[in-house]
Amino acid sequence: MKEAFLHYIWQHQYFEKTELMTVEGEQLQVLKTGFYHTNAGPDFKEALIKIGDVEWSGSVEVHLKASDWQRHQHQTDQKYNQVVLHVVWEADQEILRTDGTAIPTLELKNRVEPIMLLRYEKLQQAISTIPCASFWPTVPDITKTMMLERALTERLELKGEEVWEIFSNYGNDWEQTTYAILCRSFGFKINQQAFEMLAKVLPWQVVRRHQHNLLQLEALLFGQAGFLEEVQDEYGQQLQKEYVFLSHKYKLKPMQRHQWNFLRMRPANFPTVRLSQLAVVLAQHQHLFTMLLEGQTIKQYESLFIVPVSAYWQQHYNFGKSLKTTQKSIGKSSVQNLIINAVVPLLAAYAQYSQNRNYLEKAIALLEKVKEASNSITRHYEELGWQAKTAADNQAALGLYKLYCGPVNCLRCAIGNKILKQSPLRIS
Ligand code: SF4
Repeated sequence: MKEAFLHYIWQHQYFEKTELMTVEGEQLQVLKTGFYHTNAGPDFKEALIKIGDVEWSGSVEVHLKASDWQRHQHQTDQKYNQVVLHVVWEADQEILRTDGTAIPTLELKNRVEPIMLLRYEKLQQAISTIPCASFWPTVPDITKTMMLERALTERLELKGEEVWEIFSNYGNDWEQTTYAILCRSFGFKINQQAFEMLAKVLPWQVVRRHQHNLLQLEALLFGQAGFLEEVQDEYGQQLQKEYVFLSHKYKLKPMQRHQWNFLRMRPANFPTVRLSQLAVVLAQHQHLFTMLLEGQTIKQYESLFIVPVSAYWQQHYNFGKSLKTTQKSIGKSSVQNLIINAVVPLLAAYAQYSQNRNYLEKAIALLEKVKEASNSITRHYEELGWQAKTAADNQAALGLYKLYCGPVNCLRCAIGNKILKQSPLRIS
């Protein structure tokens, strides 16, 4: 058993309270459990208990064994002087304050429903990817739905925090942050790191100055990506010429070509093609952040991202390599991906920045309108009978897994709570 289980039992008061007594034999009444906190000091603050006829207000400390008090050196720590109740699974030792008085102790081992403990241990020891898989069918759908909604919100808040970190690193500039996030998202997983690196070696301040000129923008992007070193064809050499001038002017150092991944990829997804799509999006929209923030419909976002690439890239997938068919712009499924990985995190970050929850609601509403393929994690929930209809469902399942099921955080999860409390428990 982990101490977290005892915290949970105390916090929710899931124990038998008939004839509640301290180990010392005095009548005990819990008037306030106190607030759980994880900082240094006792586990629950501002608790109120009654022992005999006297009310005591102070802290509650929880341990598996009473002797843990000494093992954790609390007897020499002043922060523990305000402890009014020691809650333990097993009272294996009497604990004294520094003045020699006994700390009232409540032993729980005979007061918790054995089935609750059994279920807790089953969840903790489960070997399946989703530890509650065997209980899943017994949990009401409404509980699962509510928990998944909570996991989605928490996942988006975390994504927002990640963006906010980038925002702080980039001098609190939203346009620059948007550039960095967009670069990363155009990497579409396989080249995500390389695109992130590109955003670092090609500063936004330089991009912004040449944003209106697609040729110069391509020269900067392809040059800094390391793709212009050995180009043979006319267009490539034209870009190279521009790049030599610009890189000298801004003292730019390019990436290495080998940092890009072309393996096992359809030509339409080659990083060279993605760079041409990124270039045209940057060239077309001078105030991307505002546009991404204010977009309302999927169609509006499509019209933002689906813009024809330069004539050369409509017919090539790499320098000197022609396409069999013309490819004018990014596809709709890629736009959905950009909405999930760039627009939604930006909205979530801005919701925190502006303290305006409407942006978070908008992020969720967008996710509810786009599709996302299932993956190795969401498939585990699908096997349990849960169905993802939209990206919001998928992202919720990812949130549930990463924040709860993966680290076996069942005590913080509404589904876990339902499982532990299921009948035949009789908690008053
Ligand atoms: S965290 Fe919740 S959903 Fe995940 S395994 Fe535990 S009880 Fe189940």
